[in-house]
Amino acid sequence: MPQNPHPRLAGQFALVTGASSGIGAAVAVALAAYGAGVVVNYGHDLDGANATAKVITDAGGTALVIKADVSQEDQVQAMFKQAIEKFGTLHIVVSNAGIQVDSPFLDMTLAQWQKVIDVNLTGQFLCVREAAREFVRRGPQPEVSKALGKIICMSSVHEVIPWAGHVNYASSKGGIMQLMKSTAQELAPRKIRVNSIAPGAIATPINLSARDTPEEEKALLELIPYNRVGDPADIGELAAWLASDEADYITGQTIFMDGGMTLYPGFADGG
Ligand code: NAD
Repeated sequence: MPQNPHPRLAGQFALVTGASSGIGAAVAVALAAYGAGVVVNYGHDLDGANATAKVITDAGGTALVIKADVSQEDQVQAMFKQAIEKFGTLHIVVSNAGIQVDSPFLDMTLAQWQKVIDVNLTGQFLCVREAAREFVRRGPQPEVSKALGKIICMSSVHEVIPWAGHVNYASSKGGIMQLMKSTAQELAPRKIRVNSIAPGAIATPINLSARDTPEEEKALLELIPYNRVGDPADIGELAAWLASDEADYITGQTIFMDGGMTLYPGFADGG
């Protein structure tokens, strides 16, 4: 983990869901590198969560591993309670955990639909709500953070790009967009900032099957004008900045970090 000489998140505490792998792990490591103590949440992968925590603590940071299924209200509430008992409060919550359960639409079962909505959308609702409740309970700490609290929802380019064969996933990300914007509108007067990061294709376990042959990798790169798959650390850096006072006037926005995937690359040669 890189040491940062100017810890812009010093004195703050963060919770990152789904931090046992991929983007969540990179976000947790980045927030810690900028000085935050971090709750590393995991759903089932304790080894992955411990590995994330080890990267943080080996670099001199503070990490607390907590298990919770984000789709279960009692588990989310117990996780926030445990985090607040340990750290005193939270200043940053990154609602990142997400899954794909893919199926052609005609064959999609209610269970496949419901599972993705439960984790990707209801899970975000539960975490955003608990975060906001804690920020309001704790009250301002202007010496630590200009905002009362910062919430980052991990969305996807599929909050705007339709995705055949992934209707449940795209619907969950479209839902996150309005969850984020509506809560941002409601909570802005309380000085709580709510934003989303919408990654394009980032090299993580969730999309391994879409890039595990050279042909698949080539097809994927045709969708990315910048001509590279993203690194989880790209998202980590953005999250650390978006959570900082440097981004204090940003709320209710989705920041696309996608190498140009949302630029309609099919029209690059005139359509
Ligand atoms: P990943 O599979 O590595 O990470 C998902 C994480 O969520 C894992 O740690 C997993 O254990 C956790 N998780 C799943 N269900 C959970 C539950 N019920 N409770 C708690 N944790 C749970 O994949 P990733 O790419 O790092 O995905 C992270 C987020 O980024 C997801 O919301 C995903 O939709 C989003 N995203 C990823 C990409 C990409 O290209 N990788 C693109 C756009 C959006």
